[in-house]
Amino acid sequence: MRKLGIYVQVPFCQTKCTYCNFHTGVVSTARFAPYAEAVCREIREYKAFYTVTGVTLPESLDDAEVDTVYFGGGTPSLLDTVHLQSMLDAIRESFATDLAEVTLEADPETIEREKAAAWVRAGINRVSFGLQSFSDKELVAAGRMHRRADIYRAVPILREAGIRNISFDLIAGLPHQTKESWRQSLDELGALAPEHVSVYLLEIDEGSRLGKELLQGGGRYSAGAVPTEDEMAEFYEMAQEALGAGGYHHYEISNWAKPGFESKHNLKYWRREAYLGFGAGAHSFSGTERWANAHDAAAYVNAVQGGRLPVEQVETLTVESALEEELFLGLRQLDGIDVSRIERDYGVALAARFDPLAAAGFVEREGSVVRLAPARLSVSNEVFVELMR
Ligand code: SF4
Repeated sequence: MRKLGIYVQVPFCQTKCTYCNFHTGVVSTARFAPYAEAVCREIREYKAFYTVTGVTLPESLDDAEVDTVYFGGGTPSLLDTVHLQSMLDAIRESFATDLAEVTLEADPETIEREKAAAWVRAGINRVSFGLQSFSDKELVAAGRMHRRADIYRAVPILREAGIRNISFDLIAGLPHQTKESWRQSLDELGALAPEHVSVYLLEIDEGSRLGKELLQGGGRYSAGAVPTEDEMAEFYEMAQEALGAGGYHHYEISNWAKPGFESKHNLKYWRREAYLGFGAGAHSFSGTERWANAHDAAAYVNAVQGGRLPVEQVETLTVESALEEELFLGLRQLDGIDVSRIERDYGVALAARFDPLAAAGFVEREGSVVRLAPARLSVSNEVFVELMR
């Protein structure tokens, strides 16, 4: 039976972090219930909504079984558990389910004993923790709500509640981060022994207040204290080394896991497997089409209440774009891609694309498998730019 992932977007936060380039908002808690109700309606009526919107689901998804659910954001842990429960109920009523992995993104300051117990009762079995750093100086500068002490308060609560699969996010490149403070964060993370770790490099773009400030050469949001690109690359390499030594398997550019704890849901993205996204700004992929809901949460709720799905973009993938995805997403996984299989499926020859990259030491070849060279992962973006030329 074909497997299907479900992503639920919760676009609400308590504050806006300076580096954040997501479409999230700080809104009154009174808006949580209508939002959750709209998401439940979208889930229950998804087939009718898709028909009206012009999205065609392949027949192979008709009897697909949902095995992963991911509540992302935003900060989904802000919602009352009753809202999370109602969305999970809607999923169970609307799809065949055998839920192996149900992830909730959570911020440390939102964790409470009763809430955590209720999450487990609702079926949540994985918590992805946006902790970003163990340094209060970095957390304050980044505009985060939590402090180092909140992490140490929250983790035992989750463990006592029965969460056996915890993921920590760290960001390399926060303002005021130094080699010493990064080492400290890696050491403290290792001591808390999460099952999964994601390490992201700070993104500098127009989408965040800090990114904009940096691009304009200003000094607000501690922009002057952001590490250089070379330092960020060094931090990434320090993480590679520390996590490898700690028994974590590096399976995707930004992700490490203890054996067997690779994110089942996120693997679907990189393997181009089907997932349906519900909520404002949520993206979906059927295998042949990609589409996304409008980002504005209020507009989303109004549209769904009016019986309309506010889909903004529907893209039917061309052979060329599907091939680019195969390469780009496939190479993010450290196991690499089977070039013979891709050449066969797409009727193309890829040697001309990979030969120069192999000669320059950016990729390694083993039989028909091509993978990014482990020593060049911190410059993977350059490899992708070359590959897509
Ligand atoms: S908590 Fe996450 S989603 Fe919310 S503002 Fe901060 S970085 Fe953005």
